[in-house]
Amino acid sequence: MGSTRRRLEDKTALITGGNKGIGKAIAKRFAAEGAKVMIIARDMEKLAATRAELGEDVCEVMQADVTVEADLIDAVARTVERFGRLDIGVNNAGDAVYSKIVDKTEKEFDYELDLCLKGVFFSMKHEARQMQSQDMRGVIINISSLNGTQPGKGLGGYGAAKAGMEMLTRVAALEMGPLIRVCSVIPGLIATERAQGVMEAPEILGEFLENILVDRAGLPEDVANATLFLASDEAAFITGHHLYVDGGQFNKRYPYKAFEQTRHDTFDE
Ligand code: NDP
Repeated sequence: MGSTRRRLEDKTALITGGNKGIGKAIAKRFAAEGAKVMIIARDMEKLAATRAELGEDVCEVMQADVTVEADLIDAVARTVERFGRLDIGVNNAGDAVYSKIVDKTEKEFDYELDLCLKGVFFSMKHEARQMQSQDMRGVIINISSLNGTQPGKGLGGYGAAKAGMEMLTRVAALEMGPLIRVCSVIPGLIATERAQGVMEAPEILGEFLENILVDRAGLPEDVANATLFLASDEAAFITGHHLYVDGGQFNKRYPYKAFEQTRHDTFDE
């Protein structure tokens, strides 16, 4: 008879950007496997709705901005106050501004670097400090992007930040082992609200699908399953690794025809 023990029983996870999209799918999957989850993001309404959906006994939320170091210090402290420990950090908050290098403003570039690179640095730093103080094995998983290794037009700032995040992941694995494993997940096209522009533009979606070997866009649950695996003891011998969840797109190429006329987002703070 197989064991009925869930894969994250007795574990506590801090998930950044977990009030929608990929982060929320990860939070739900983790909770279903027995974890207690602390979710941080900026939109309190969505955070409260997520807590209600997952259940207040297993989910806590806190309004926090990952680009502000003090918020990460508070979020880790609040996690420990509520659940007693921190075993898993999932650094998922991220966003891109589509604009070619010649059009990109300093403000747009700073936004992408602050959120996708500096925010991950702050998150890892304070998650790891807590894990080291507990002297118990921990795991940190950063949610990267195919754009960190495969160039996409209009995605220079975002891609550079995600590429930086991947090196940060590898350095962290060196510095934090053996106590803490550090990995990243590299999603390809995933059908979330953020990817709605692609999903609803037949020409752009078609070009993506030509390059995705499994013939569909990914789902947030695809990323959640891979993140669960890396967070679980089944991945106990894996660290410093980047796991692609992209339907094989990295094996072909990044769409570029549809992006010839790369749109320049209107950037509002
Ligand atoms: P969503 O826009 O659906 O979710 C982004 C999350 O990040 C939200 O919870 C948002 O909450 C949070 N967030 C944004 N800025 C901050 C901030 N400054 N501080 C705290 N939280 C913040 O995106 P996805 O779910 O699609 O993407 C999640 C991750 O996956 C990102 O890192 C993205 O780069 C990556 N990814 C996504 C792909 C896709 O196709 N969808 C492909 C490849 C990578 P709030 O606004 O309330 O703060």
